[in-house]
Amino acid sequence: MKKLNTLFLLILIQFSYAQKNNSKIVVGVVVDQMCYDYLYRFQGKFSKNGFNKLMQKGTNCRNTNYNYVPTYTGPGHASIYTGTTPDNHGIVGNEWYDRNRREVVNCVTDKAYSSIGTSSKEGERSPKTLKTYTITDQLKMTYPSANVISLSIKDRSAILPGGHLSNGSYWFDYSTGKMITSNYFKKELPNWVNDFNATKKPDEALLKTWETYYPIESYTESGADDSPYEVLISTKNKPIFPYDLKELNINAKDYSLFSITPFANTFLTDFALEAIKNENLGTDSQTDFLCISYSTPDIVGHAFGPYSVEIEDTYIRLDQDIARLIQTLEAKFGKNGFTLFLTADHAVVPIPQSLIDQKLPGGYLFLEEKLSHLKKDVKAKFEFDLIEAEENQNIYLKRSLIDSLYLPKKAIETFIANEIRTWDGVKAVYTSEELENALSSNNWLEMVSKGYRFDRSGEVIFILEPGYLTKNEDKPSSHKGTSHGSAFNYDTHVPLIWYGNGIRKQEIFRPIEIIDIAPTLIHILNLQRSGAMTGNPIMEILNQN
Ligand SMILES: [Zn+2]
Repeated sequence: MKKLNTLFLLILIQFSYAQKNNSKIVVGVVVDQMCYDYLYRFQGKFSKNGFNKLMQKGTNCRNTNYNYVPTYTGPGHASIYTGTTPDNHGIVGNEWYDRNRREVVNCVTDKAYSSIGTSSKEGERSPKTLKTYTITDQLKMTYPSANVISLSIKDRSAILPGGHLSNGSYWFDYSTGKMITSNYFKKELPNWVNDFNATKKPDEALLKTWETYYPIESYTESGADDSPYEVLISTKNKPIFPYDLKELNINAKDYSLFSITPFANTFLTDFALEAIKNENLGTDSQTDFLCISYSTPDIVGHAFGPYSVEIEDTYIRLDQDIARLIQTLEAKFGKNGFTLFLTADHAVVPIPQSLIDQKLPGGYLFLEEKLSHLKKDVKAKFEFDLIEAEENQNIYLKRSLIDSLYLPKKAIETFIANEIRTWDGVKAVYTSEELENALSSNNWLEMVSKGYRFDRSGEVIFILEPGYLTKNEDKPSSHKGTSHGSAFNYDTHVPLIWYGNGIRKQEIFRPIEIIDIAPTLIHILNLQRSGAMTGNPIMEILNQN
């Protein structure tokens, strides 16, 4: 009997070992600006084989949140794939103020590299600002034969997930409508990418009309289509369906018009399926990794907000693309031949003006006037112009001037923080000294400190009250559309679903942090924990028996 038990245990160990190692491919899907509640609000309109399949058959981590500020695209993608926060991976914003170059820099722009596949500058990019290793880097460092491919409409959403070692990171060139790369990654585009570009799908899409997938009367899950809070696209005088792209395309081949329609999600899915086929992903004994990031939901969300018919239709159609992707993976690799996770790089706040009109907390902070006032007051108090820049609610001081004149840096920071505290809509202000010595006693201070770096952040960082956004000045267009970036749940609470090899149906309600995704993949792939990784593996995913 004892022997039989031992034998049974051995079989069990063998079985679980096999289960964890037969993924031919890991597929990471990031939906830019996806709120957690979209899974449920639009569920009745989703097909059986897309989001519903993931929710009904996979592991749904229903309480997954970002654990730092700012909740933007660059930091989000970097945190998902490095398993740590911006204070460690270095991506403190989509842009930040570079003190040496004395200008605002983009997180992936790198003029040391040139474009491949276009004569525009859109390919002058690299992942060099990323200070640690992604899960995809770790896979390549351990198993150089692993094929890592990353793709997105946005440059940063393709480059950061693929990390430093990707075999190919591709993004959309707005000036030509083609998928391109940088010579950091490749000397020339592979044939299959050239062939894909030759099909000119974006040009074809610009001749189409975006109509709702179902009759518009059935879109009861969102607000009225004609809403005063939505941005007007091109020549539209009302923000309503249908969107006749041929008519709206007044500047010949306006690819930004293409990128704000669900056709761009379908285009990216087509490109992903071509990558699977032509890169021979998942065809040898080494597990490969495909990163897909859908940017269009963010572009639609900024313009129309989370309660718009436009966002609902975008997700109904994205669901069809996700279904197509899952179907291909299952047909090619079998139900247990791949591991897929789906999450978002941040969510979004409702349009603040709509909150104000509904008597809900929310509003705007108009910065231009406030900042010029602050600058004057600092000069009056300390005799010098000491504020160099403002970016992402960070006040950057003239560090070298302050040091060379032995000015009281701490007192200057405190003076600025005290003045910002008097602005309507400001919830909290932190100085560099507080952020460098942050203890976990204050949730907001901890979240800001995890997004703070001495070399890339300002000396004073402020956060706004819930429902608030900053705008430069008060004009009619400032009250339309929305954004994200805050520490609050409307920006931090995102979907996280796992599906595929050895992943069982379960729902997890305990809090999970976005930085726990990569550490979980570390154990699925049996890799060394990478570089500055600080997250923890999700045990419920790994304990399958
Ligand atoms: Zn984003």
